[in-house]
Amino acid sequence: MRAFIEGARALSTWTGMLIDQELLDPDAAKRAEAADLVALLTPIIKALFTDLGFESTNIGLQLYGGHGYIREWGMEQFVRDARIGQIYEGTNHIQALDLVGRKLAEGDGRLVRRFAEVVAAELQASGELPALAMHVQALADAIGALRRATAWLAGQATGNADELGAAANEYLRLFGYVALGHQWLRTARVAQERLASGGAFPAVHYEAKLATAQFYFARVMPQVHALHASITAGAGAILAFPMEAY
Ligand SMILES: Cc1cc2nc3c(=O)[nH]c(=O)nc-3n(C[C@H](O)[C@H](O)[C@H](O)COP(=O)(O)OP(=O)(O)OC[C@H]3O[C@@H](n4cnc5c(N)ncnc54)[C@H](O)[C@@H]3O)c2cc1C
Repeated sequence: MRAFIEGARALSTWTGMLIDQELLDPDAAKRAEAADLVALLTPIIKALFTDLGFESTNIGLQLYGGHGYIREWGMEQFVRDARIGQIYEGTNHIQALDLVGRKLAEGDGRLVRRFAEVVAAELQASGELPALAMHVQALADAIGALRRATAWLAGQATGNADELGAAANEYLRLFGYVALGHQWLRTARVAQERLASGGAFPAVHYEAKLATAQFYFARVMPQVHALHASITAGAGAILAFPMEAY
């Protein structure tokens, strides 16, 4: 829950800053770059965060066991309240279709290239800290999976809309995990630097960030490879089910 929630807070705060930049930066090139990133990240944030919000409240319920399920303690209400986020403002599959159908195609992949450049800069900066080597490798591998999945989708785009639709949810999740991984690498780098030079918070604050980043890269990030396999397995397994068997 912590890895998802703190990663999501970092990603949404960064995107909020990009919105400010899109609106207010005196440099037109920077405004355009920020606008591209905001357009790309909007469906990802809407769908990923509401999915993870629901998953997190479910983990919270499970933690209490039977007491989580019954009404007296209030936990089941959080689960029910979080569930609607995946439906209103357009369902999450519609957000995923926006990502694969519109945002990927815009400017011949310009939005994704902008994002990849930002992540590459972070990989470079964090790559200078030996303590973060495993995280840097995990994010670089995940970017590779995202690049291969994007190329596979681009190959389907003109041929078969079913393939785009069938891949959309998993693709959005893969992209979202990479976007959270970018935030966790950035967070870990800053925590390392603050631990070395003395930051505004007690050391345990930065140690908690580093421990959560370690969990994210070891236990969550590898899921992108399963998502890549699922995406490139194609729509056939969904569409093969015979109508008369329903
Ligand atoms: C509590 C609540 C409050 C609401 N408040 C408002 C409000 O204030 N203002 C407002 O305008 N609306 C509101 N809504 C409506 C809300 O916007 C819609 O429920 C939402 O957009 C989803 O539409 P739908 O319910 O018709 O589902 P549908 O569009 O019928 O979707 C059903 C399922 O099919 C999937 N699906 C749909 N199209 C596709 C596709 N092309 N490919 C693959 N899968 C697809 C969806 O992902 C979903 O899982 C509210 C809804 C609720 C439940």
